Amino acid sequence: MGTDWAIDWVRRSAAVVGEHRAELSGLDRAIGDGDHGENLDRGFRAVVAKLDEATPDTPGAVLKLVATTLISTVGGASGPLLGTAYLKAAQAAGDAPALDAAATVALLAAARDGVVTRGKAEPGDKTMIDAWTPAVEAAQQALDGGADAAAVLQAAADAAERGAEATDPLVARKGRASYLGERAVGHRDPGAQSSAYQLRAAADAAAE
Ligand code: ADP
Ligand code: MG
Ligand code: MG
Repeated sequence: MGTDWAIDWVRRSAAVVGEHRAELSGLDRAIGDGDHGENLDRGFRAVVAKLDEATPDTPGAVLKLVATTLISTVGGASGPLLGTAYLKAAQAAGDAPALDAAATVALLAAARDGVVTRGKAEPGDKTMIDAWTPAVEAAQQALDGGADAAAVLQAAADAAERGAEATDPLVARKGRASYLGERAVGHRDPGAQSSAYQLRAAADAAAE
C-alpha cells in the first residue's frame, strides 16, 4: 500500500467523519460536552484542504500532514490524542514508499501506543483505546495467519467496530465521561466510534 492508499484513507476518513458528524456529537452530548463530531470534522476538513495543495510523496508524509493538522485544529482531548496517533503512525511508516502487512501492523501498534503514552488510558476505560487495542491485536493475529496488508486492515476495522460497541456498558475512567460515573453506562464512547470509522476508512481504501 503506497501513497495513494494513504491519501485515499485520509479522504475516506474525512468523508465518514463528515457523514457521522451529528451522530458523533450526539454520542458526546450524552457523556461529554457534545463537540466530538464538530471537532473531528473541522480537523479533517483542514486536512483535506492541505492535501489539496501539498503533494506528500510517501504514506509517512501523508500521515505526518494529518497529525500536524489535527493537532492544530481539533482541540479538546481528542485532538492531541489522535494527532499523536497519526504522528507515531507516520514515524513507524518512515520514508518507505509502500507498506506491507507487517509494516501496517507496526503502524497501527505505534498509533495505539502513542495514544496510550499520551492519555494513559487502559483498555476498558471507555476511550478510543477500546477501539485501537482490539484493532492492533486483530491485525497482529491476521498477520500471524498470513494475511496481506488489506486483510490486516479489514481485521483491524472489524475489531475496532466491536471494540467501540463494547464501550456501551462501561463506566468511563478517563476524559469528561469519567465525571459521570454510572451515568455513562449505556452510552457509546464517541472517540472509540470515530476511531472505528477511521480504521474502516483505512480498510476500505486498501480494498480498492
Ligand atoms: P473533549 O472531551 O475535550 O470535548 P472530544 O469530545 O473531541 O474532546 O473527544 C472525546 C474523546 O476523547 C472521548 O470519547 C475519548 O474517546 C477520548 N479520550 C478522552 N480522554 C482520553 C484519554 N485519556 N485517553 C484516550 N482517549 C481519551
Ligand atoms: Mg467533547
Ligand atoms: Mg470539548
